[in-house]
Amino acid sequence: MGKPTGFMEIPRELPTRRPIPDRVNDYLEVYNPFAEDKLRAQGARCMDCGIPFCHQGCPLGNLIPDWNDLVYRDQWRLALERLHATNNFPEFTGKLCPAPCEASCVLGINSDPVTIKQVEANIIEKAWAEGWVVPLPPKVRTGKTVAVVGSGPAGLATAQQLARAGHTVTVFERDDRIGGLLRYGIPDFKMEKQHVDRRVAQMEAEGVIFRAGVNVGVEITAEQLLAEFDAICLCGGSTIGRDLPIEGRALDGIHFAMTFLPLQNKRVAGDVIDDANFISAKGKDVIIIGGGDTGADCLGTVHRHGCKSVHQFEIVPRPPDTRTPTNPWPQWSNVFRVSSAHEEGGSREYAINTKRFLGENGRVTALETVRVEMKVENGRPQFVEIPGSEKQYPADLVLLAMGFVGPQRTGLLEQLGVELDRMGNVKAGPDKRTSVDKVFTAGDMTRGQSLIVWAIAEGRQAAHSIDEYLMGESLLPQPLEHGNSARPFV
Ligand SMILES: Cc1cc2nc3c(=O)[nH]c(=O)nc-3n(C[C@H](O)[C@H](O)[C@H](O)COP(=O)(O)OP(=O)(O)OC[C@H]3O[C@@H](n4cnc5c(N)ncnc54)[C@H](O)[C@@H]3O)c2cc1C
Ligand code: SF4
Repeated sequence: MGKPTGFMEIPRELPTRRPIPDRVNDYLEVYNPFAEDKLRAQGARCMDCGIPFCHQGCPLGNLIPDWNDLVYRDQWRLALERLHATNNFPEFTGKLCPAPCEASCVLGINSDPVTIKQVEANIIEKAWAEGWVVPLPPKVRTGKTVAVVGSGPAGLATAQQLARAGHTVTVFERDDRIGGLLRYGIPDFKMEKQHVDRRVAQMEAEGVIFRAGVNVGVEITAEQLLAEFDAICLCGGSTIGRDLPIEGRALDGIHFAMTFLPLQNKRVAGDVIDDANFISAKGKDVIIIGGGDTGADCLGTVHRHGCKSVHQFEIVPRPPDTRTPTNPWPQWSNVFRVSSAHEEGGSREYAINTKRFLGENGRVTALETVRVEMKVENGRPQFVEIPGSEKQYPADLVLLAMGFVGPQRTGLLEQLGVELDRMGNVKAGPDKRTSVDKVFTAGDMTRGQSLIVWAIAEGRQAAHSIDEYLMGESLLPQPLEHGNSARPFV
C-alpha cells in the first residue's frame, strides 16, 4: 500500500475535458492529458484492501492494487508488467471501459472510488511513449494454424495470445480495416484510431496475418476454413441491430446507428465519401431512439455535424442521481451519467415511446410519441401508456440505437451448423468451445452485446482453450475459469 492515509487526504480527481466550443469542431479525443504527479496522488488513494472488491468487478481480474501502488512509487515499468499480465490492450479499456472495477471499489462505500481507469490509461500511454511496448514474437513455432473470424477486441486478444504461444494465426475481417467496433462504431472523439493501428503493427510483428476485406462465409466458405486450419475462433460480434417495426419505418431518413457511425469513422480516416452516400445531420432535427452509449455516440457525432436540434429518447425512467437501496455497492451502479456528448447539448427524454413515424414525399418529418410508466410484473418491465401524453417531435433524421439482437446467423454460422443459445448467440461453455469440433468462439458473438473488457477476457479464455486443444496443455491464462468473474453466463 502506497500511502496509508492517502484515501483520507486526497480527493478523487479526473482529467478535464477540452472546452466544448473547441471539441465539437473536431473528432479528436475529448480528454486533456492528466499530469503524472496528479496521477500518482490518485494511485495513493488505493487502500490495498485485504479483499480487493475491484477484482470482483473486473472480468479480466486486473491486478489493480498492485499497479495503483507501483504508480504511486514511480515504478512505471513494473506497473506496465502487471497491467499486461491480465490485459492485452489496456489503452482500449483505459479509454473506453465503463469501469465496473470502480463501481465495486471498497472506497466507494462511503467515498469516491479510486480512479482505476485513469491509472490504467496513464500507465499504458507512458509505456507507449517510452517505447516499452514492443512485439513479443514466440521463440518456438508450433506449426499449428488458427483462423480467427472478426477483428474486434475479442478477435485481437485471441490472436495475440495464440501468436505468442507459437501458433500461426490468420485474422479474417470483412470490413476494409482491422478493429471491429474499435475501428467502425466507436467515434474517434472517444478513441482515436492510431491506438488500434499501433496494436495491429505490434501483432503483425509478432506474426499475426491480417486479411481485411474478406467476408468469411461468402469469399471463403466454412468448409474451406475447416479444411485449411487446425482450429477456428468465431469472433464476429453482435451485429444485428434491434429494429423498431412501427408505422412509417420505411420512410427515408431513418437509419440504424451502426449505418450512421462508421461513415463518420471512415471520413475521419480520410476516405472520400460523397454526400449522396453519407448520412449527415447538418441543419437537421435529429431524434436518437435509445438512451445508451451507442445513442450517446450518435449524439456526439450529430453535434459535430452541426445539427439543428437533437433529442435522445429512452423508454425507461430517468435513473436516480445516487444509488438506491436496491442497488447497493458493490453492484454496478445504475445512476444518471453524463457523457461528454451529453455535456455538449441536446435533450434527454425519459419514459417515452415512439408510436409511429410521420412523413411527406417518402421522407420522415416527425415522430409521434407517448409517455409511459414502467411497471415490473413477474420480473419483467411493462410500459403502460399515459393517456393524453401524446406528442409530435419534428425530425428529419432518426437514428435507431436500441441495442443488438445477436450475431448474423446466415452465411458462416449456418454453414458451420454451430448450435445457438436461446438468445440466438453462438452457444459455448466457459471454455469457449462450440458444438462443432475445433470451432471456438469469443466476445459479443457468444456473449451477446457487451463490453470491450469482456471481449478481451473472452478472447484470452478462448486462446487458452484453443492452445490446450492443439497442444494437449496450455500455460496461457484463463480469466473466465479462474478469474474473479468466473460466473456462468447465458
Ligand atoms: C457504437 C458502439 C459504441 C460502443 N462503445 C463502447 C465503449 O465505449 N466501451 C465498451 O466497453 N464497449 C463499447 N461498445 C461495445 C463493444 O464495442 C463491444 O462489446 C466489443 O467491440 C465486442 O467485441 P467483439 O470482438 O466481440 O466484436 P466486434 O467489435 O463487433 O467485432 C466483430 C468483427 O467481426 C467482423 N465479422 C463478423 N462476421 C464476419 C465474417 N463472416 N467474416 C469476417 N469478419 C466478420 C465484423 O465486421 C466486426 O469487425 C460499443 C458498441 C457500439 C456499437
Ligand atoms: S477496492 Fe479500491 S481501494 Fe481496495 S484495492 Fe481495489 S482499487 Fe484499491
